Amino acid sequence: MTVKSLRTAIFLCLLAAAVGTSAAQSAAPDARIQRAVAAVDATRLQSTDLALVNFGTRHTSGTTLPAEKHAGVIQARQWIEAELGRTSQHCQGCLELKQYRSVEGPAPRLPQPAELVTIYAIQRGNDPEAAKRVILLSAHYDTIAMARMNDAEAPAPGANDDGSGTSLVLEAARVLSHERFPATIIYALFPGEEQGLFGSKAFAKLAKSEGWQLEAVLSNDIVGGDNTRDQHNLARVFSEGIPATLTADDADRTTLRRLRLLGAELDSPSRQLARFIATEATAYLPASSVQPKMVFRQDRFLRGGDHTSFNELGFAAVRITEYAENYDHQHQLPRLENGVEYGDLPKFIDFSYLAGVTRLNVAAAGLLASAPAPPAEVKLVTRDLVNSSTLHWKPSPDGRAAGYELLLRETTAPGWEKIVPAGAQLQLTVPDSKDNVIFGVRAYDQDGHRSLVVMPAPER
Ligand SMILES: [Zn+2]
Repeated sequence: MTVKSLRTAIFLCLLAAAVGTSAAQSAAPDARIQRAVAAVDATRLQSTDLALVNFGTRHTSGTTLPAEKHAGVIQARQWIEAELGRTSQHCQGCLELKQYRSVEGPAPRLPQPAELVTIYAIQRGNDPEAAKRVILLSAHYDTIAMARMNDAEAPAPGANDDGSGTSLVLEAARVLSHERFPATIIYALFPGEEQGLFGSKAFAKLAKSEGWQLEAVLSNDIVGGDNTRDQHNLARVFSEGIPATLTADDADRTTLRRLRLLGAELDSPSRQLARFIATEATAYLPASSVQPKMVFRQDRFLRGGDHTSFNELGFAAVRITEYAENYDHQHQLPRLENGVEYGDLPKFIDFSYLAGVTRLNVAAAGLLASAPAPPAEVKLVTRDLVNSSTLHWKPSPDGRAAGYELLLRETTAPGWEKIVPAGAQLQLTVPDSKDNVIFGVRAYDQDGHRSLVVMPAPER
């Protein structure tokens, strides 16, 4: 053994001692996720995006145009449905194709009531209990040109916003549907985003009213990596801090006060989802592929997207979007002006970048659908003033957990820094003071898939 390799071995031992070891950490990579990630095809993404653009403007109000106008929004959604049908044929009918219809408007950007149709496909989990848990991959298929925002015929190709996200979801469905997962994955394409998130709001309401166990929503919007800007090989993952469900009424004031007391504003369920994407999913990405960059903010400055519809109803949801946007290529009427070309056109898309963001989604969704349910009723005991910390929890409700891990980080650290294995125990005491660190608990299954992290609630 050379001095260098000896040093490396000592370092690895120290690291193992620091973070602890567990069945979860020594698990082999999941071959299903590896296959799905490797199958993502930039050429297919390109042809899907071009097909969407070729339907013409996909303005949501297109449904109110006379039939002879062949509105792009209707043609596109029929084609999307047919594509998902073809994908399903290749997996022996593994996808259940669905539509969710609602009538929205009148509204400032929908002067006449319009029928909105969300197209979605369900890939049911193969474990009866875990299949009740749902992971949602989404994008919106409608487009708009802001200069003529209520004109359903104004040219709005929407190659990036959000033809890129729609192509991503269809490609993710194609590669993930060849594999089987314990939990359910839903692939959803929304209309009405540009008019005020109408499609996703209606769909989130459906999920809420039917009591879906919607565990994670990944909303992909503008993920084409405009090729006139340096994307630094990064995709931003936006997640809310203070949950959108907290309002000013009395019950929420108590919750808000607790958030403030505990300094828990960096640990919403959406933030745990962002951390999952930034750590678990990246293990499956080639080093040269697009990497996630967490942004601790619900969306870009004063802007919004479909994930907000889910946040507002209490679901964990993140927005995934390119690193550096070019506003000349969003919501613009295609034109040449003073030597500058405007318009959301396919030629500005970097399809290898889009393939990178697709891999990230595929890895994240596959891992989330493989993971056991997070542990339930996670509590941090606060009865006595002591310097050590005791946490306890109930088993993962889907019965798939092989063990649990306690996670710790400094209050100033963005991501988890230390893992303490708990094995099959449902309680653990660590010497670290709850005053100085932030705790989380997660489950892992027999193959080492980790669940989303749950923040403990104080128990008096
Ligand atoms: Zn958009």
